[in-house]
Amino acid sequence: MSAEIIDGRKVAELVRASVREDVDQWVAKGNRAPFLQVVLVGDDPASIVYTGTKTKACKDVGIDTNTLVLQDTISAKELKGIIKDFNQDDSVDGILVQSPLPSHIPLYDVIETIDFRKDVDGFHPMNVGRLSVDQPCFRSCTPAGVMELFKHYSIPVKSKHAVVVGASNIVGSPMAVMLSRENSSGKATTTICHKYTRDLTQHTINADILVVAAGQPHLIKAEMVKEGVVVIDVGINRVADETSEKGYRLVGDVDFESVRKKASWITPVPGGVGPMTVAMLMKNTLLAAKKSLYPE
Ligand code: NDP
Repeated sequence: MSAEIIDGRKVAELVRASVREDVDQWVAKGNRAPFLQVVLVGDDPASIVYTGTKTKACKDVGIDTNTLVLQDTISAKELKGIIKDFNQDDSVDGILVQSPLPSHIPLYDVIETIDFRKDVDGFHPMNVGRLSVDQPCFRSCTPAGVMELFKHYSIPVKSKHAVVVGASNIVGSPMAVMLSRENSSGKATTTICHKYTRDLTQHTINADILVVAAGQPHLIKAEMVKEGVVVIDVGINRVADETSEKGYRLVGDVDFESVRKKASWITPVPGGVGPMTVAMLMKNTLLAAKKSLYPE
């Protein structure tokens, strides 16, 4: 068997085209364009790249955006004050604070300061809580993107055994909640694994659907999965590669070449989940502008 490839670039472009169309219609009705306020603290090179990708995607779908760049010496109090001003500003629909933040700023203090109705990342406890009781909310973009991939490729989720490797607040945990709880698209029997899971293979080998978000290059090998498994590789890891101009290449958490021989479906890295994350952010920003989730 050789797995069918789940083409995240293609599906992300479809999502973006649909957002673009909706934004056009929204503006044609006399509304202003949706507006995403990005906040970047410090000069972490990866964060600069991520915020650049997001703002470029905004422009592509007709969403207005601005990135406020702050020095990494800013205090938590000052940063929270700035976010409170954006909360009050009716011209701001979505607020995104790029992580990581400098170590003296507690991330969750900052996330909880964002008005949950503008929390397009879906990280605020109000949105996380509503997700866990299957109520309308901003859903974390990466796992929401994975659910969109299942939908696009008509990959059944209901009653399957889903195993999620990784339990972070932004990927693994909301992924497990979506897979297990969502009435419309989930209802899988779900196992969630993390660093303290004793025998990872004992779980992964039983997965019908395996989502890996551990940040460990090639953690999942062919002998850890069963024939026909659907594999979603969220991981993005840099590994040294002297043959590449940059000196490194990107790999996932899954040993793609060996696992694809057993899987029925698999996402590549790059070109799998990554593009979906940004596309779902566009979708969330449009929802925020339309006040679809939290009507006034
Ligand atoms: P975190 O480091 O926040 O979380 C990693 C999770 O994996 C933790 O729950 C950790 O367990 C668990 N873990 C680590 N090692 C193992 C192991 N050997 N066995 C089982 N579980 C393990 O990472 P993120 O969730 O933020 O990201 C995960 C990966 O996904 C990264 O490579 C990241 O770059 C990528 N990513 C990709 C995105 C995309 O758009 N494609 C978006 C976001 C992230 P514990 O909880 O016990 O520490």
